[in-house]
This record gives sequence, structure tokens and C-alpha cells, in this order.
Amino acid sequence: MSDSPKIIDGKATAKAVLEQCRVEVAELTTQGLRPGLAVVLVGSDPASQVYVGSKTRTCEDLGIYSEKIELPTETTQDELLEVVRSLNENPAIHGILVQSPPPPHIDEDAVVRAIDPAKDVDGFHPENVAKLALEDPSGFIPCTPNGCMELLKTAGIETSGKEAVVIGRSMIVGKPMALLLMGREGNATVTIAHSRTRDLATVCQRADIIIAAIGKPDFVTADFVKNGAVIIDVGINRIPDSSKKSGFRLTGDVDFQSVSKKCSAITPVPGGVGPMTIAMLMKNTIKAARQIGNV
Ligand code: NAD
Repeated sequence: MSDSPKIIDGKATAKAVLEQCRVEVAELTTQGLRPGLAVVLVGSDPASQVYVGSKTRTCEDLGIYSEKIELPTETTQDELLEVVRSLNENPAIHGILVQSPPPPHIDEDAVVRAIDPAKDVDGFHPENVAKLALEDPSGFIPCTPNGCMELLKTAGIETSGKEAVVIGRSMIVGKPMALLLMGREGNATVTIAHSRTRDLATVCQRADIIIAAIGKPDFVTADFVKNGAVIIDVGINRIPDSSKKSGFRLTGDVDFQSVSKKCSAITPVPGGVGPMTIAMLMKNTIKAARQIGNV
């Protein structure tokens, strides 16, 4: 295969999505419906702090009203549920997300179930999971897999009739990704691989499209990849790197060096799927405002 695959530019695609969001937010605000997002962070996980910061900054940039609610690590389950309940009732807030992962004493499933499904812009509430499976367009699709679909679409990559292998079966990425690819929009033939899959490389070799969502740096190597395959790397792994000011560098789940010599298109890390996740969150917040406000 060619030595220079198409690099699928998540930054540029996200920028285009955000510009469209900016226009919609201005229109809605003129009509008296300013979309609002509340982001709740419990504890002081450094990666979570970065994610929460960029979510609220993006809101501010687009004109979306945002509330950042930072709670101490020792916040109890009941206290957190009370915060969620009051956000459910708050008319200025259309989207609510509780940043994952919360501290271990918090029952994350119970917190997700406490969020009003109409404000569940992460798309993790069982009602929205069901709507995704049912392909009900009023539901909220989890932002990362939705961003992957948007990237495939804008990069002009045909998924219909293609063999797709999704590596990872989490509720945040792998499962919704597989549903989207196999659904009416994707029309792909989908295999879901996971930690118990036997001979993963062979399973992946038949894929026209590989979505890697594993959480292991550089795990997918060239021997997994058929010539000309399309690679979407969801992984974000922090690797200690003393040459960086932050003390780490980011790498994906795909060994970009070797895989890019075989594939036809690939997302970089950073600058691929990551920026799309926030862009789709903004889209979901606007959708929530429209649905709640009947606009
Ligand atoms: P997770 O830990 O919940 O799931 C990982 C999945 O990988 C599991 O289903 C597991 O079965 C599978 N897996 C683990 N080892 C495997 C192996 N040896 N062979 C095959 N499968 C294996 O993680 P997640 O939340 O789905 O996230 C996956 C990656 O995506 C992480 O790197 C995470 O940081 C990244 N992520 C990125 C974004 C983004 O915005 N780009 C958003 C969410 C997650």
C-alpha cells in the first residue's frame, strides 16, 4: 500500500461542526433559548480536570451557558445525587454530564440513571442506550462513537457493505460504535472484539475498517491490518516523557508508524477522534435544548 495514507483530520472536522453549532446557538439565543450545559466533576483526577476545562471553555466560546460544578473527592453518593436532581430541575440547564471516572465509592450507574434522560447529553442513560439500539432519532448518541461516524462521513469513507472490526466493548465507545456501524446509517458488517477474543490479529485482518478502543498504547500493529484498510484510533494513552513540559505525551491504541504504511486512511492521536468528542457534546447540548424548548 502507499506510504502516505490519508490523515483524517479530526481538528478540522471538529472546527466545522463547532462553527455550525455557533450559528445555531446564536439563533436559539435570539429566540430566548440559550442552550446550557452543566459539567460535574467529583475529585481531582488530572485528566478529568483537563477534559472538564475544555468542555466548559468550548461552551463559553460558542455562547452556550455552562456551569462547572467541582465537588471534593469525599462527596457522598447522596450529595452527588442531590446535585444531579437540582440540575434536572434547573431550566437554564439542558445538558448534564458527570465526568467519568468518579471516585471508587460512587456508584456511577446510579448517578447516570438519576440524570433526566432528556438532559443526558453523554447518552449513557438506559433510555438513550435503548433509543440507540432502536434507532430512535430523539435519543442522545454517546459523543465519541458519534464523532467517529462523523469523521468517517466527512472523510468520504463508505461504510455500507464493508467489514468493520470494533476492538473494545465498553458502553462509552465499543458497543455504541458497533450499533452505529451496523445501523441504517452505517450498514456495515460488524465484528466486536474484546479482551477474550482469540487470535485478534486474524480477526482484524479481514476488516475494511478497524475502530480501536482498547486503552493500550500502540496495541494495533501492522500485522493486524489489511492493505488499504481505514483505521480509527480512539485510544488516548498518557506515556511518561521527560522531554515534554507536561511530563507525558499522548499516544493512541494504534502503532501509527507501522500501521500508516499499510492503511489507506488513519486518524492521528492527538488531533483525530479527541476533538470530535467535544464537538459532538456541543451538538447534543443544542439538540437537548431544542427538544426541551420545542424549537
Ligand atoms: P475500557 O477500558 O472501558 O474498554 C476497553 C476495552 O478494550 C474492553 O472492552 C476490553 O475488552 C478491550 N480490551 C482490553 N484488552 C484487550 C485485548 N488485549 N484485546 C482485545 N480487546 C481488549 O475503555 P474505553 O472507555 O472504551 O476507552 C478505550 C480507549 O479509548 C482508551 O484509551 C480511552 O482513553 C479512549 N477514549 C477516548 C475518547 C476520545 O474522546 N477520543 C473517549 C473515550 C475513551
